[in-house]
Amino acid sequence: LPPEQFHLTTQTVTIEGDDAHHLARVMRAEIGDKVICSNGVDREVLVRIAELDKGRVTAEIVEELTMDAEAAVQVWIAQSLPKGDKMEVIIQKGTEIGAARFLPFLSDRTIVQYDAKKEAKRSERWQKIAKEAAEQAHRNRVPQVESVHSWKQLLQRAKEADVAWICYEKEDGQQLRPAIQQALAQGKLGPGQQVVIAVGPEGGFTEQEIVQAEEAGFQSVSLGSRILRTETAAMVGLTCLFYETGE
Ligand code: SAM
Repeated sequence: LPPEQFHLTTQTVTIEGDDAHHLARVMRAEIGDKVICSNGVDREVLVRIAELDKGRVTAEIVEELTMDAEAAVQVWIAQSLPKGDKMEVIIQKGTEIGAARFLPFLSDRTIVQYDAKKEAKRSERWQKIAKEAAEQAHRNRVPQVESVHSWKQLLQRAKEADVAWICYEKEDGQQLRPAIQQALAQGKLGPGQQVVIAVGPEGGFTEQEIVQAEEAGFQSVSLGSRILRTETAAMVGLTCLFYETGE
């Protein structure tokens, strides 16, 4: 639940808005049912429903929970804005797999017309998709979906990370797996460390973008000899990373 819908006192939780509606009308919860509530940041509790109506649900805290479904390493998916609803799929699947943050950006060959006026509505929708996927995956934290960055802003942001990989289908030297193993050996994939995996648009990155990314600290990596769709590449990168780190 977003913090404004999660009023935690020592004894009770009040659930409002869409979540209250979902519990009462969709899940058909009843008084006495137990559900797990998370504030999406750092606290999970088992609660028993005490009062129920579609606008507001009040529940008593039964137990503090300590389960942790989060990956130790924080992975950001930096995704060049794709066509149609692919960004939604990337956010949904990436959240299930364990990404910590999504950073959409614009690059030279981005096909979609970016309309800043629609940004607020779209951001809200993307964040909602992340929240629902996090709930479905029983994650403790909801990944943050950032606003759409320019290419320059992305290069700047990536400097905050401990490791930054840019997926480039023409990379014929560095494969992702040995790059992960090297970063592991260098102690760069530990708890709280940040990794960026950048994926290009349908038309790919330009050579110039790859040069600029490398100058900004990215390592260009190949995901293998087959060309993946943009929405597949991020999932492959994320899954390979968690396979190697054991998460
Ligand atoms: N324009 C390219 C082409 O047609 O040859 C394909 C671009 S691909 C559909 C979209 C993005 O997915 C790329 O920019 C890259 O980031 C990533 N990608 C796809 N396959 C990859 C691979 N084998 N290795 C590394 N990155 C890959």
